[in-house]
Amino acid sequence: MSDKSPNPFARIPAVDKVLTALEKVADLPPLPQPLITDLVRKTVEKMRDGVKAGTTEPGEFEDTVASIRSEIESLYRSRIHPVINGTGVCIHTNLGRSPLHPDVVKAIAGVGQFYNNIELNLDSGERGKRGGFLETCLATLIEAESATVTNNCAAALILMLKHLANGEKNEVIISRGELVEIGGGFRVPEIMEASGAKLVEVGATNKTSLADYEKAIGPKTGMLLKVHRSNFWMDGFTEEPSTEDLVALGKQHELPVVEDLGSGAMVRTDELAPIQQEPTATEVLRRGVDLVCVSGDKLFGGPQAGIIAGRADLVAGIKKEPFFRALRCDKMILTGLQETVLAYLHASGSEKPPLPLIRMLSASVKEDLRPRAESILEGLSDVEGLECGTVETIARCGGGTMPKSEIPSLALELNPTTMSLPKLAQRLREKDVPVMGYVAEDRFRLDLRTIFPEQDAIVVQNLLEIFRKD
Ligand SMILES: *Cc1c(COP(=O)(O)O)cnc(C)c1O
Repeated sequence: MSDKSPNPFARIPAVDKVLTALEKVADLPPLPQPLITDLVRKTVEKMRDGVKAGTTEPGEFEDTVASIRSEIESLYRSRIHPVINGTGVCIHTNLGRSPLHPDVVKAIAGVGQFYNNIELNLDSGERGKRGGFLETCLATLIEAESATVTNNCAAALILMLKHLANGEKNEVIISRGELVEIGGGFRVPEIMEASGAKLVEVGATNKTSLADYEKAIGPKTGMLLKVHRSNFWMDGFTEEPSTEDLVALGKQHELPVVEDLGSGAMVRTDELAPIQQEPTATEVLRRGVDLVCVSGDKLFGGPQAGIIAGRADLVAGIKKEPFFRALRCDKMILTGLQETVLAYLHASGSEKPPLPLIRMLSASVKEDLRPRAESILEGLSDVEGLECGTVETIARCGGGTMPKSEIPSLALELNPTTMSLPKLAQRLREKDVPVMGYVAEDRFRLDLRTIFPEQDAIVVQNLLEIFRKD
């Protein structure tokens, strides 16, 4: 069907003609027709603009259809769907952070599908407190006077700032060493400005003393803020006052002390893996901090949320802020968080809750990962064009938590002999269930710690398909 007209405008294909040709394409992704029509229309328009500007030469009709087909495939791949995480980064923000427990997902589905009592008091039949039960559970779990929940930890910080640093007393004192940028564009200074608070930076990046804070306190000071250093680590010549000292200083000047903890560990992380202990919200409150905020989907192991815990009067005040209404969670998130918190509360004493993230962090290389690797290698033993082995690696917590923590792990090491490493990575990303790995020492690696055991068979299947001889 090649059109060799010398006039380039005449060679721009008609939208209808492309759509008819696409109908005959086998295995076109099941995207709704309006999306496909729109994509074709835009591509043709772009081609026309290009011809007008003299920057495009329309190619053969078949090539145009093929290139539109690959755009349709790419659009289809961009919808949110499950991905296998072989990166070894347990809390990966690009991959949706913490995976949820199947029971948590079941509870979310049940509440989403039917009506529920989110704002109904079943005793009186009157209007009830939204998330009241969850707040009670959280306060018990964290051992806090009171707790509440917002859209995420960034929202929690904005609300705390709005409530505690406003009007005449809108200054917030923070150490320069804590003006961090956390992945995903969370910049503490920008968040603070968005809330209307005025940042008063004290100390140097590596050294801040209690006297630095004290000197900065004035009539306009609203609060003292501590931000947990999440995604970087400072060694050597560093100094910062202890939380206890900061709390004492706050008391002396009648200023609230707030800590943005972020990571949200609820169990001793040093008991899960040979990694350092991440401070918990409970520990921070015990040190006397007035309010603490954490993320729901980092080490907490739940859905995206921000948890605020601490003094009851301050939590109540925050809930009355007009912004609180704009930053509240929906019924499915509240349900997911509720079930996650219940899992923690049901796990008594030294028992750990059966949350996927906690299991993942505590998996043993010898007893859990090694046998899986062996059975995967067996499944791949007949594959031609691919050399497979295992390699001991280092997995990480991720999500901006514990940058120094290195968790011993095990990865499949793949060496394709018929294609390049980037090509293999691309082919794996193009599968129905995409697989993400990484390249190290000239090999493609898939860390088994972050791959769910029930996904091993999909990894094998994907590789068999990629290296199948047609
Ligand atoms: C991750 C993190 C945040 C942001 O949390 P979100 O839930 O993603 O909004 C804020 N503060 C700290 C210290 C963090 O680690």
